[in-house]
Amino acid sequence: MRVILNPKHADHVPPGEWEGGTVIPCYEAPGRLEVIRAALEAAGGFAFEEPPKPNEECVAAVHHAAYITYLREASAEAKRARDPAAKQLWPTVFPFGPNPRATGTRALRGLYCFDTYTPILPGTFAAALGGANAAARAADLIAEGAERAAYVLTRPPGHHAEHDRCGGYCYFNNAAVAAERLSKRGPVAVLDVDVHHGNGTQHIFYSRADVLTVSVHGDPAGLYPFFSGFADETGTGAGLGANLNIPLAPGTGANEYRPALARAIEAVSRFKPAFLVFSFGADTHEADPIGGFKLPTKFFAELGAKVRELGLPAVIVQEGGYDLAALGGCVAEVLKAYSGN
Ligand SMILES: [Zn+2]
Repeated sequence: MRVILNPKHADHVPPGEWEGGTVIPCYEAPGRLEVIRAALEAAGGFAFEEPPKPNEECVAAVHHAAYITYLREASAEAKRARDPAAKQLWPTVFPFGPNPRATGTRALRGLYCFDTYTPILPGTFAAALGGANAAARAADLIAEGAERAAYVLTRPPGHHAEHDRCGGYCYFNNAAVAAERLSKRGPVAVLDVDVHHGNGTQHIFYSRADVLTVSVHGDPAGLYPFFSGFADETGTGAGLGANLNIPLAPGTGANEYRPALARAIEAVSRFKPAFLVFSFGADTHEADPIGGFKLPTKFFAELGAKVRELGLPAVIVQEGGYDLAALGGCVAEVLKAYSGN
């Protein structure tokens, strides 16, 4: 299987994350990509390559132009800053009241972001764009029929990034970039199995009939992103019925997960897509520090095999997964099973 790597991922290294009034080490760190790469190299059968040179066209197809400009300029501002504290742009206040206006740089940080996990650093724009470019490259390989499946090995992840807001460690929505590109050739289904709801992907395609979004995740009543991912969110306008959320209880193990996955796969199958975008997160693993599910490593082979049964040409995009001891093995199990090995 071809693996499209984000060559710029290590340009983005958050110094920490805000949690309950303290700064803790950031779970979303470069070591994640390194353990995945090492596991795939050890497993064998994977060919690594980088996307062509940086290009913003693919993100302009799914993100608001002003948001892209903001990310580019905020990263440049952080790069120019001399004071170490000014090299990290954190939002502190979010829009409130009727018709909020944001006219200053501090206000824009809250306007274009929805949480306190997603700072803008000097290398954030380059790293986020590198992931989107990798996703676009993988989509092109699939659209042209050059491959049946390609894996996008990237961080920061993408599925929480909305049309015009970053959040949840995500800046550009890599899965949406791939889905949008593939949608020019036929209907697309996005299947998101990260433990957190893919709110950004849902948001971007919510009124689209040609892109089905299906997400199996922890119930937002108790799990991030809290404000999105409920079962009654089913799409709007032309997209009504083309969004399926399957929230599951904390502590979900393989026995509870299996029927939910079967339901998600059945929905994808019924939609009769030409292409699949598989947003894969390994934060459903039992050892994950922020997920709360109880899936053992061996279940990930079953997951990959089930999704493979759809028989669809697929772009597989890396989302979350934060236990460095388990992450590489989970990805290798899914991809090996998906390849039929
Ligand atoms: Zn996640």
